[in-house]
Amino acid sequence: MKVTFLGTGTSQGVPMIACNCSVCQSLDSRDKRLRSSVYIETDKLAMVVDTGPDFRQQMLREKITRLDAILFTHDHIDHTAGLDDVRAYNHLQKKAMEVYAEDYVLETLRREYSYVFAKKKYPGVPKIHLNEISTQAFKIQNQLIEPIRGMHFKLPVLGFKVDNFAYITDMNFISDEEIEKIKGIDILVINALRIEKHISHFNLEEALAVIDKAKVKQAYLTHISHMLGHYSDLSKRLPDHVSLAYDGLSLKF
Ligand SMILES: [Zn+2]
Ligand SMILES: [Zn+2]
Ligand SMILES: [Zn+2]
Repeated sequence: MKVTFLGTGTSQGVPMIACNCSVCQSLDSRDKRLRSSVYIETDKLAMVVDTGPDFRQQMLREKITRLDAILFTHDHIDHTAGLDDVRAYNHLQKKAMEVYAEDYVLETLRREYSYVFAKKKYPGVPKIHLNEISTQAFKIQNQLIEPIRGMHFKLPVLGFKVDNFAYITDMNFISDEEIEKIKGIDILVINALRIEKHISHFNLEEALAVIDKAKVKQAYLTHISHMLGHYSDLSKRLPDHVSLAYDGLSLKF
């Protein structure tokens, strides 16, 4: 299995437009964060979780030529804005893109991309096949995927467990029962926005607490804002089994 971090930044990305802080001005490439998304390859399937506004740039950077499916965690625009660019894969693979999301996310996609789902379609619009999922485990091409329920302030969001890997973003609450599902896995990716508490995202302390409870072998932090600090500083202060993710990082396991 291989996982590539396409983006590891919060909704505004890092650097943030017009910000002069030292993180946004950093010359370290690991402090430059596109909007959060991850590319997962198993022996059965190649998929991305979320297609934010940087989707095109991310797929070009990683030279990704195969994409079987897209999973959506929730319907915020920093996770959905890049969907139009699946056209490239429609042409390449000569079929519609399989998209998996909860009912309310599908409703948002139908509204935001009304031209894609219109009865009379303009030539060349993306071809997208929507698949509704819930918190029940499901299969894509024989690959088992287990949704993990969490809350993003008042919005229910999904994380996804694929074999020994789990990806969680945009949560600020996860129940002990859901943590049970990821207990002891090899790799957990989880969002950590900043040091200070936030209304809809785990801060660093809260993310570390979930990692502790889940007793995972290795954890990576994502959906990071410029307020979390410099990669080089913070990396030194994290426990051994926790790392900051950065754009372009890839893990084979
Ligand atoms: Zn987000
Ligand atoms: Zn900044
Ligand atoms: Zn969000």
